Amino acid sequence: MSPNNILVINCGSSSLKFALVNPNQNEFAISGLAERLNSPHAMITWKQGSDKNSLLIPDGDHKDALSQIMPYVQEVCQGNLDGIGHRVVHGGTHFTAPHKITPDVLSEIERISPLAPLHNPAALQGIHAALEVYPDLLQVVVFDTAFHQTMPEHAFRYCLPEKYYVENNIRRYGFHGTSHRYVSRQTAKFLNLDIGDSHWLSAHLGNGCSTCAISNGQSLDTSMGLTPQEGLCMGTRSGDVDPGLFGHLIRTLNMTSNEIDDLLAKQSGLLGLSGLSNDMRTLEAARERGHKEATIAIEVFCYRLAKSLASMACALPRIDGLIFTGGIGENSPLVRGRTVSWLKLFGFDMDSEANAKFVGGKTGLISTANSTPIIVTPTNEERQIALDTLLFLEDKQ
Ligand code: AMP
Repeated sequence: MSPNNILVINCGSSSLKFALVNPNQNEFAISGLAERLNSPHAMITWKQGSDKNSLLIPDGDHKDALSQIMPYVQEVCQGNLDGIGHRVVHGGTHFTAPHKITPDVLSEIERISPLAPLHNPAALQGIHAALEVYPDLLQVVVFDTAFHQTMPEHAFRYCLPEKYYVENNIRRYGFHGTSHRYVSRQTAKFLNLDIGDSHWLSAHLGNGCSTCAISNGQSLDTSMGLTPQEGLCMGTRSGDVDPGLFGHLIRTLNMTSNEIDDLLAKQSGLLGLSGLSNDMRTLEAARERGHKEATIAIEVFCYRLAKSLASMACALPRIDGLIFTGGIGENSPLVRGRTVSWLKLFGFDMDSEANAKFVGGKTGLISTANSTPIIVTPTNEERQIALDTLLFLEDKQ
């Protein structure tokens, strides 16, 4: 039987998201989330077919969660689990592609943890838990940053003294690489173009948001930088601010670096602007009712997104299409329409009927016949991670 069942794991410091992915099937046979790990309220919720289940695992950790989940996963795939794919946020400059897990790979992920102090240690916890539960199974790591390692130096350097780059690895890395890679390939297929000879602007708009310029299958620039804070207005992240803001807040409001980090990462973006919510659905409903702050939050979000896409266009020799993806990109005709209205200069023209139609996970062309194509392409990072993991199995055979 050809290998097909990959468990994809995505760990936070107190959470573990999982999905059993079979690339021949559209739906995940089982998927779920263990959260509040290492607390008395630790619990797992999961969906198996149409059944929803939950289980309390008081004080359970990543390994306890996995041990509880695995019998259900094995039942669903009839004991034929072929491998585990782990999402890791930061691969530094070392990881330019997915890797099979070895002791050296684990040490390198650990070494670059200062670049992602919250995310990489959490991923390592999940990896160690999975290695303990399944020491003999193929396990692969897929990095959010790896796709952007093709960015040229003029795109990834900050205008800072060189020593900060050379000695401290301070440069732009970019994130959401797995998503931008997946949707650019899917969109090329959808429009019958060769990914190796095509040029895309991609907008991944979820709770975190980023844009990317993709040329011949490679990332040439992206809006996130050293951290996922740079670039667009996001759910709770500010995106770009004047670097002078940091000193200003310290001097005038006596704020500490932790307070500033918290302000810019958790209290800003759509939430900060609207004073209402980080959820675009809530903001759209409030805008309908005439809520002033929700309206301006959406306008800032779309204008900044359009500006970022316009700047990404610099990296491309031509534009074969603009891709919208992520929860907002796949579901908000309002955001897509407002954003594209700023991009007329690039030959984009929205077909409003098609724009209204392609929501809820549908792929479709939403531009008029004369326009540069605008496409809604649902992302599926789990599927991409499973495909990457399967490649290692095929290599082995
Ligand atoms: P993600 O992080 O990709 O799951 O995306 C989360 C974001 O997608 C949140 O801001 C949601 O409000 C947004 N979203 C999901 N469904 C819709 C919808 N029908 N209309 C507008 N925004 C949506």
